[in-house]
Amino acid sequence: MNAVLSEPEAGKPSVPYMLAGRVSDEKTVVNISGGITIGGEDVCIIAGPCSIESRDQIMESAAHVKKAGATILRGGAFKPRTSPYAFQGMGVEGLKLLREAGDAFRMPIITEIMDSDDLAVIEEYSDIIQVGARNCQNFSLLRKLGRAKRPVLLKRGMMTTVVELLMSAEYVLAGGNRNVILCERGIRTFESETRNTLDISAVPVLQQKTHLPVIVDPSHAAGTWKLIHPLSLAAIAAGADGLMIEVHPDPDHALSDGMQSLKPERFSDLMIRMAQMARLMGRSIPGSC
Ligand code: PEP
Ligand code: MN
Repeated sequence: MNAVLSEPEAGKPSVPYMLAGRVSDEKTVVNISGGITIGGEDVCIIAGPCSIESRDQIMESAAHVKKAGATILRGGAFKPRTSPYAFQGMGVEGLKLLREAGDAFRMPIITEIMDSDDLAVIEEYSDIIQVGARNCQNFSLLRKLGRAKRPVLLKRGMMTTVVELLMSAEYVLAGGNRNVILCERGIRTFESETRNTLDISAVPVLQQKTHLPVIVDPSHAAGTWKLIHPLSLAAIAAGADGLMIEVHPDPDHALSDGMQSLKPERFSDLMIRMAQMARLMGRSIPGSC
């Protein structure tokens, strides 16, 4: 019997992530709305700007990423910014604009939750709730998300190990929400040439340790658009179930993370190359050519 599943003694789980742990070859496929899934045969591409900045900006972003073949639209409405003086996001107004753009281009949407006070409104408008790296171990938030009606995309913290990430996922699963997607987005190391270090080995390690879908965010790992192409292809080659990529119609004037955001035409090129890589891996990217 798999050690991960051995019977808990005296009501105590014998491993800290008994629900997240892999028990067989079977993987969890998370159903998003509109027949879209994460964790199945397809490689799911989530794309869009770091932040929602205006109706025009999110509409333009959605039009581009949809045309290029992305499946899910991203956009931050409540932004975790290092400086309290930096743009903090448009809040609920931004969330509504993201919903409008998602509906206009028939794409499910994902946005980040920072404060559990916003859970009800995010649940109402967003198809997926993102937990950012900074909240990966915010256990009270994770507990609340265990009772949420929407799938949760849980990003790895900058300083969390793979096992700690699995234990964070366990909080959500144990609360009754079995729709959790994990996201490797780079960890903090001594290396300073990149914003973070993409831990590419976390992808196959997680695929071995858990049945949950695993995606990669190369944008926050790299910190520069120049590395998004190679890192995205590496993620698919490593067995990722999807990617989340920042794309902005005018990165030079973006209110957050412009340096790491792809211009629409570069994203279109990348989609073609990712589709080729997915085929090599025996998978496909729906919507791409
Ligand atoms: C984001 O997705 O915009 C974000 C803030 O990511 P992370 O939590 O990985 O830094
Ligand atoms: Mn960002």
